[in-house]
Amino acid sequence: MPRSLLIADDRRFASHRCRRPHPERPERLEAARAGLEGALPAPLRRPLPLGRASDETIDRVHRPGYAEALKRVLGRGWGDLDRDTYFCPETADATWLAAGAAAAVADALVSNPGERAIALLRPPGHHARPAAPMGFCLINNVAVAAAAARSAGLERVAIVDWDVHHGNGTQEIFEADPAVLFISLHQHPFYPGSGAPSEIGRGAGRGSTVNVGFPAGTGSEAYGAAFREVVLPALESFDPELVLVSAGYDAHERDPLGELALEAATFAAMTTALNGFCGDSRSLGLLLEGGYDLRALEASVAATAGALTGAAPIPLPEGVPSAAARAAIDATLAAHRTLAP
Ligand SMILES: [Zn+2]
Repeated sequence: MPRSLLIADDRRFASHRCRRPHPERPERLEAARAGLEGALPAPLRRPLPLGRASDETIDRVHRPGYAEALKRVLGRGWGDLDRDTYFCPETADATWLAAGAAAAVADALVSNPGERAIALLRPPGHHARPAAPMGFCLINNVAVAAAAARSAGLERVAIVDWDVHHGNGTQEIFEADPAVLFISLHQHPFYPGSGAPSEIGRGAGRGSTVNVGFPAGTGSEAYGAAFREVVLPALESFDPELVLVSAGYDAHERDPLGELALEAATFAAMTTALNGFCGDSRSLGLLLEGGYDLRALEASVAATAGALTGAAPIPLPEGVPSAAARAAIDATLAAHRTLAP
């Protein structure tokens, strides 16, 4: 029997829009939704009621005063927060609703261990830093979700970030926190510049940040190897009660921003592996980040959703990674081996 999924989605996420052509556009949401609805019959979709995030929810991960200051700027109507990050009169509404959705997903996942959820959020979140918006992101949704889960009583939360870009904001928020394991697979060197294997966390959080940075052109077989050798062993040893995914789809071979070569099936395979790890005792939630080719986004969300229900599992890709991808995985393993007693 396939599992049904909690779905966090809201038409208002599409109201965040740019007056000039921009890759992070409302049509992305329609593509993701079409993928989800095409893959899952209605009885397998359980819509989650959403509301705006409270400032307290946002203050758990952002610098005190950040939410207030951001609201003031967004109140100006139209503009740009940086070179990449635009806002419009509806941006505050969509942003607070996306963060609220992330918190609602976390609450639902915490209260029912073994639960599965997909959140189709806009704007995305993983580049948003403690005190600054960045890279299309204003509030760090996945960080809000992880912090909400901790606040609801969980001791250990893992975040797996497979967006093609390093989740610098999420890393920065949790790098000194041993209660949140952050694992990122991304293109490197690439925007935003961080995510080297030597970035392993700091202070009490040393060892709970794991970065695998792949060279341009890396394909599915390297992600299969990274999951077997890095991601799954790190999860096993950390033993989280909840796994959240920063699910960007811009590592797809068709993506106009990323330069990696994954396929829709690769995302389904990673989902299948996490589904297997989580089993009936741990909850698993996927939160949309990037993904800028509409066809690839629709197909990837569909494949991911099918895998998450358990109806369409796909094994991790076999095959030998390229020498450069192999070296990337080995660099991550070496950086973390230094922690061994
Ligand atoms: Zn991205």
